[in-house]
Amino acid sequence: MVRQMATDLGSGHGEVASYSTTLEGRIRELTDEINLARQELEREIAERKSTEQQRDRLLVELLKKNKELEGIVYVASHDLRSPLVNVQGFSRKLAKSCAELDGLITPLAATAGESERQRMDRILHEQIPKSLGFITGSIERIDCLLKGLLRLSRLGRASLTFETLDMQVIMEKIVSSMAYQIDTLGVAVEIGKLGPCLADAGQVTQVFSNLLDNAIKYRSADRPLVVRIFSEEFDDGIRYCVEDNGIGIPAESRERIWEIFHRLNPDEGPGEGLGLALARQIVARLAGSIWVESAPGAGSCFYVVLPKPQAPG
Ligand code: ADP
Repeated sequence: MVRQMATDLGSGHGEVASYSTTLEGRIRELTDEINLARQELEREIAERKSTEQQRDRLLVELLKKNKELEGIVYVASHDLRSPLVNVQGFSRKLAKSCAELDGLITPLAATAGESERQRMDRILHEQIPKSLGFITGSIERIDCLLKGLLRLSRLGRASLTFETLDMQVIMEKIVSSMAYQIDTLGVAVEIGKLGPCLADAGQVTQVFSNLLDNAIKYRSADRPLVVRIFSEEFDDGIRYCVEDNGIGIPAESRERIWEIFHRLNPDEGPGEGLGLALARQIVARLAGSIWVESAPGAGSCFYVVLPKPQAPG
């Protein structure tokens, strides 16, 4: 009996020893796997750190280049205005000299032959006024473009005051500042419940005034204009929408409308193709985003996402 127990104990001991060897092997394997995974993780972390450092370096570089570019645009648009004013002044002088010359020549023309008289008449009353008209028109256009560039370059320098904005109040003020246009054209402006945002009041007013102004300018001749303005809150911001039932924007032009001086139909009413370029620049400075969705012939919806005010506490 005792011998039997001893034999059993012996074989049990052998089994335990063999389990323990297997277990040790398995632990060694697992340790190797963990070490490998740790090395892989360390490599990934190092890679990510270097990518982040590279991104930060590029961002600093980009900001520097942007500042430089803004400076160049500012100086160019500012300094180009004085020679332009010069050209403007001298074209006026030229027009006056021509009128004076006309007065002097008229009595002489009576003694000239028919063909000379006709030539003088063409030069003084057609060719010179036509050329002067082109010069004046181009000066006005350059002046307008320079003013636009100046406004754009000044935007980057404007100081911002971030505060909680009651968008309901701001939007109602914008709408009432356009009351004359809205009433005369019979536009229906529906303002939904608008949540607050954290932004600069002046700049936000400029963005939404431009969106409402555009909705009115690019209305459809086929139906009365209805503009709906509403907002939706998300975890990381608030999204405002200015929706119209106007002419809409073709898909292939939806990116180009944000370019400075780009107008889809240059002959379609007043405008310098600057509003949306300024709006995009402003919204970017306010740490937001702006884009459009549109159905040509049916209407457009401009979305503006801005940061939300900090939750109390
Ligand atoms: P502007 O109105 O002076 O031309 P913007 O930069 O404000 O300049 O707009 C650029 C172009 O985008 C406009 O010329 C127009 O073609 C198009 N656009 C802007 N808003 C609308 C809108 N609500 N509906 C249709 N087209 C629009």
